[in-house]
Amino acid sequence: MKRYRYATAIMLAMILWLGCFAGCTKKNDTRTIAGYAMEPSEGTYAYVIHTPHATWHLAAADIELLGEEMFFEGLERLLENQEADFEDAIAALDGYLTEVPVIDVYTDFSGRTEKAQLGAYGAYCRWNVPCIEIYQPDMAFAELLHEYAHYLTHSCMRYEIDGNFWSEAIAEYVSKFICKNRMFCSAYREDGRTALAARGFANQDGDPDIRKMYCAAAAAIRDGLMIGQTFSVVSQAPVVMTERMLEHPTLTMLSYYEAGCFFDWLVERYGKELVFANMTIGQGEFREVFGEDFETLFFEWAADNQAFCTENGLKLIGSEE
Ligand SMILES: [Zn+2]
Repeated sequence: MKRYRYATAIMLAMILWLGCFAGCTKKNDTRTIAGYAMEPSEGTYAYVIHTPHATWHLAAADIELLGEEMFFEGLERLLENQEADFEDAIAALDGYLTEVPVIDVYTDFSGRTEKAQLGAYGAYCRWNVPCIEIYQPDMAFAELLHEYAHYLTHSCMRYEIDGNFWSEAIAEYVSKFICKNRMFCSAYREDGRTALAARGFANQDGDPDIRKMYCAAAAAIRDGLMIGQTFSVVSQAPVVMTERMLEHPTLTMLSYYEAGCFFDWLVERYGKELVFANMTIGQGEFREVFGEDFETLFFEWAADNQAFCTENGLKLIGSEE
């Protein structure tokens, strides 16, 4: 009897142990990415990941396209920095935002390559039904925070925005001039960081200084670097830069670099309140709001920006003779 009881106890222990083992195995199968649990889903999106500010939907076809290793390695690098970056963007607009609901982010690479190349953009923010779609995996690092800034400014801001210039300018201002943008910086490997630092494009932490990179790019464009070449303007249709465009800038034909840099300058000079409250005005209304016409202000910014680049010895890589 005693022996029997003993055997039963062993059996029971084994079953319990097996049960635990099975349970543990199941737990290990539930992968975590940057500390977030990855929940299996059905249909187009194989997994869902919930972070405090974003719900990620990972397309099964995209995981297959890149291969598991590359897909999850890239995703991990993004998710390690996403929350801190999104918090920075919200802080940059502190006092101007209403509630900020969690945004849905969809990976959508497959079958989009052509569209992404044509539009020269890698991600898109829809604000009728707010969500962010990522078309190019590499571009996610550079543009996810820009798209999140679109979401904040179009869906959660107390002031209205009208037209491509204001929309892109504030998105660039928030994501490239105010925020650290850790996701953007994480795309730079060691040799890239060294090359940037050697040219003065590093901040005190040794990270790429995106603000300075943008100022230098804007200065090079003002200097005629893009004449005769196709480049992206805020009105979203790539155009060929002409001498005339350089001499007579218009709001809709500015590059993203100029738009962000000029917006930052306007905020420095006139304050957030005045600029944010007037993101609906056209080129002809600048004098009414800022006391000077658009061209005068724009050329004043360009001169200030050039002086800043000269003082700091900033020269765009590839722009020297
Ligand atoms: Zn944009």
